[in-house]
Amino acid sequence: MRGLMMDRPLMISQIIEYAAASYPEQEIVSRTPEGGLHRYNYEDAAKRSRQLANALKSLGVQAGDRIATVAWNTYRHLELYYAVSGIGAICHTINPRLPVEQFGYIVNHAKDQYIFLDLTFVPLLEKLQGLFEGVKGYVVMTDRAHMPETSLPNVMCYEELVGEQSDEMAWPEFDEHTASSLCYTSGTTGNPKGVLYSHRSTLLHAFSVLTIPGMNLGEEGAVLPVVPMFHVNAWGVPYFAPMVGAKIVFPGPKLDGESLAELINNEGVTEAWGVPTVWLGLLGHMRKTEQKFTSLKRVLIGGSAAPRAMMREFQEKYGVEGLQGWGMTEMSPIGTVSMIRPKDADLPLDRQFDIKAKQGRAVFGVEMKIVNDDGQALPRDGKSFGELLVRGPAIISGYYENPEASAKAFDSEGWFRTGDVSKIDPEGYMEIVDRTKDVIKSGGEWISSIDLENEAVGHPEIAEAAVIAVHHPKWDERPLLVVVREPDSQLGKQGVIDYLSQRVAKWWLPDDVVFVDELPHGATGKLQKAKLREQFKDYSLP
Ligand code: ADP
Repeated sequence: MRGLMMDRPLMISQIIEYAAASYPEQEIVSRTPEGGLHRYNYEDAAKRSRQLANALKSLGVQAGDRIATVAWNTYRHLELYYAVSGIGAICHTINPRLPVEQFGYIVNHAKDQYIFLDLTFVPLLEKLQGLFEGVKGYVVMTDRAHMPETSLPNVMCYEELVGEQSDEMAWPEFDEHTASSLCYTSGTTGNPKGVLYSHRSTLLHAFSVLTIPGMNLGEEGAVLPVVPMFHVNAWGVPYFAPMVGAKIVFPGPKLDGESLAELINNEGVTEAWGVPTVWLGLLGHMRKTEQKFTSLKRVLIGGSAAPRAMMREFQEKYGVEGLQGWGMTEMSPIGTVSMIRPKDADLPLDRQFDIKAKQGRAVFGVEMKIVNDDGQALPRDGKSFGELLVRGPAIISGYYENPEASAKAFDSEGWFRTGDVSKIDPEGYMEIVDRTKDVIKSGGEWISSIDLENEAVGHPEIAEAAVIAVHHPKWDERPLLVVVREPDSQLGKQGVIDYLSQRVAKWWLPDDVVFVDELPHGATGKLQKAKLREQFKDYSLP
């Protein structure tokens, strides 16, 4: 028997209209690429999203068309999120740090019709435009006074385009499974793969983030998404913050420690979301200037493992709770969040950090299983580890127009293969042991490169560390530790090994330690192990 409830579709446009109706005066603050801060509220944001939607229609944009953005986190990018998806078109957010060939590839693969870009990226797009096959025009996200001289063809000014339009718009309603936005994974090997979100998946993901215990986000909160809007929709912040009327503080192009610290304290930010690299910069600045946070309560650290030392510094020096989040572009992205349960709140801090060093417990809507090499499910005993598979309504069912990649991504029951090797304990805490391709297979046993890196960066003179497998005649693979020292440090190999000996099993100790000036990072700031392996391919152990 079917329930007798209304069949109302979940639509992204409902979020911004709800925020405008229920929290009209709540602020949205943005640092702009032109310089300075911009302020308005949810009522203005909804109004301008409607104007932009009308402008898109005047350009001939139809449902299903792909509209690209190359932009920082600002209010204009937020308007694009709502206007493009709201009329049934697809907002394709592009990471400006992608290598040139990949940038060209995804614009053509997505068949983007228009590209909206921030001022900052005009020179980049001028250089790349020759690669694009079907782009009809470019919209520079600024006002007339700041419009640059440019060689971009059919170029328009955002404020002129929007300003001419009526702010009345009856958002269309359509099937909630309709595609809403598109984000390509950075693709450490081969071409990037497209992840195509839907209205339904976007809203369900936002709802599920709001169920994360301890978030308590509401009208009194202010969220700073440092994670870019070109990286998995800024982890959903632009969708879930309006649902609860929280203030949004957009950092624009300035992601350095000083600029972030200033925004956080001046704007009363309570939650900040970003990758570990960003927090390293922020903490470094706080240390140097001996400042305190005046409003910040929580930082969500995700995208790669949250170093224990970082969570400890946030907590012990500043009273800020560090929460670790794990997820993937393919999962919208949030899969798990580590948090301390009420029953554990009185545990000694060290024990609490042990818990938080795990990637955390699944958010509502994400199911997880770990399997062995034969695909058989392993117990949730906190010891067995194998590949992690997930399923849920905000997890992909296939890559966008990419049958080859899609064919490899799922098991026979349709679960998505994450490529992460994990353990799950009886309380449901998942812990990443490694990426399937990074784990070090030494004499039939596995060594986690991630665990070794985490221990290494706990050393006060180590700024960054990476562990890769190198060939060993007897053990097949052994760990090589590559280290970037803090400035002025004289730390040597023995010092590192002595430090690690007290923290990891003897057979895990790296066979060698190499010091470098910097490590290779990809477009999303992640360490590029593939590049590093390439760099050390001729290396032989001493
Ligand atoms: P990319 O664009 O590089 O594919 P994703 O953000 O989709 O980026 O990367 C997802 C992967 O990042 C995960 O499968 C996992 O390996 C890693 N990752 C994300 N969060 C964490 C975390 N908290 N701890 C460890 N690894 C993480």
